[in-house]
Amino acid sequence: MEYKNFINGEWIGSKSKQKFENRSPANWEELIGVFPRSGPEDVDDAVAAAEQAFKKWRLVPAPKRAEIIFRAGELLRKSKEEISRDMTREMGKVLQETRGDTQEGIDTAYYAAGEGRRLFGETTPAELPNKFAMSIRQPIGVCGIISPWNFPMAIPTWKIFPALLCGNSVVFKPASDTPLTALKLVEILAEAGLPSGVINLVHGTGSGVGTPLVEHPRVKLVSFTGSSSVGRQIAAFGGKTLKRISLELGGKNAQIVMDDANLELAVEGALWGAFGTTGQRCTATSRIILHEKIKEKFLSVFIERVKRLRLGNGLDSSTDVGPLISEGQREQIQGYVEIGKKEGAKLVAGGRPFEEGECKKGWFYEPTVFDEVDQKMRIAQEEIFGPVVSVLTARSLSEAIEILNDSSYGLSSSIYTNNVNVALTAIRDIEAGITYVNGPTIGAEVHLPFGGVKDTGNGHRESGTAVLDVFTEWKSVYIDYSGKLQKAQIDNVVIQ
Ligand code: NAD
Repeated sequence: MEYKNFINGEWIGSKSKQKFENRSPANWEELIGVFPRSGPEDVDDAVAAAEQAFKKWRLVPAPKRAEIIFRAGELLRKSKEEISRDMTREMGKVLQETRGDTQEGIDTAYYAAGEGRRLFGETTPAELPNKFAMSIRQPIGVCGIISPWNFPMAIPTWKIFPALLCGNSVVFKPASDTPLTALKLVEILAEAGLPSGVINLVHGTGSGVGTPLVEHPRVKLVSFTGSSSVGRQIAAFGGKTLKRISLELGGKNAQIVMDDANLELAVEGALWGAFGTTGQRCTATSRIILHEKIKEKFLSVFIERVKRLRLGNGLDSSTDVGPLISEGQREQIQGYVEIGKKEGAKLVAGGRPFEEGECKKGWFYEPTVFDEVDQKMRIAQEEIFGPVVSVLTARSLSEAIEILNDSSYGLSSSIYTNNVNVALTAIRDIEAGITYVNGPTIGAEVHLPFGGVKDTGNGHRESGTAVLDVFTEWKSVYIDYSGKLQKAQIDNVVIQ
């Protein structure tokens, strides 16, 4: 199948006519489709269309904009199974998870649609008589949306639905590993009745499409989710131009297991947190910090369970762990495993590519566990983004939190304990955007803010109502109905 860009309501190829192939990571012989390898000239066309469409879209009442997003949610719900199957073929994670990814898009649609009848500002008293004061949210303009491949439906919808709801228009550049899921989302938005030019889709690489989109002078806002290295480049550009930039970047998330924890539950959580999506989640559990009193007991069960995880095609219902996204990603994982060994960590499970049976044509890697990891080692500090977890040991809650916080990232975190004092101390002291108690580091819900501290981002949040602050500008409005010039702070009302 050959697919196209979507610009100004039409499906068209790239101007250069160049193309790229999208192949399944579970079987590189399976071609998913051929997509346009677009360039700056295609970005120009998309931005021009979005700019034109913005003029009308911003004037559509928010509840009416919301109806279109609600319809998109309904259409997503109808196509959930087909989209999820295509997503598994395209990026590898197991069907149960791609269904969850699509469901997150549906939930986001309904949540954003509900916001159409709120989008609250504030009315406040004024300090002068016969004067009215309020604040209102206003759209920003053309938004450049750049997304990664690991949540190819959920992450774009976190950005695109609120952006549209707030009255912005969008140019969407999805990851080139997951162009099909992106295309399905845009098809659905068009079918739901979004006017031409309000959403535009441009396929291609980071340098060919991403950079020109970020640097386009008529793109007023960039919302980016991806690696910290690319995020830094985009932030640097934002620093020069003062363009609004919202960044959701990497993580090095940890799960603490205290000595009073329910160990069975903690093992289940660690397995899901570390190896769900083959460890390729920004919120994946990359470090497990065990209280020394339960360490041996936890590890003996955990390692045995890790070794029993079944690798395979994500469409097969018996598969626990799918492939990595690409050959490059597998090389990166192998590189980190070699680093861990050299640093002196003890490899206790996995540590090799998995090439048995049908898996030999895909980018599979054994679920891997390192024990005896020191917090200063690179495998304890750097984001690996694969099925590799490091085990560290702590003698107390304060030491566990200190180890957890010894990271340049601060996205997600978890603590297993049955002691309410321990849980509340951890909630207070852990430096992260998300803390779970008795749950793994993964599993965010769409009506709460999502994002992290430190190098995980630049202070913005997605999801919840917090995302509205990304996609709107505040305007303060003063209406003086006194019929005379009243000077704020100068004409002080004095009460006799
Ligand atoms: P990536 O940074 O390589 O790519 C992300 C997107 O940016 C892709 O669409 C890519 O084509 C584009 N891009 C690449 N170079 C660019 C450039 N110079 N200018 C503009 N765009 C460019 O990341 P990835 O490998 O797709 O995703 C994995 C990373 O994403 C991990 O670091 C992970 O932690 C992070 N992530 C973060 C979150 C979060 O919400 N915090 C969620 C998912 C993934």
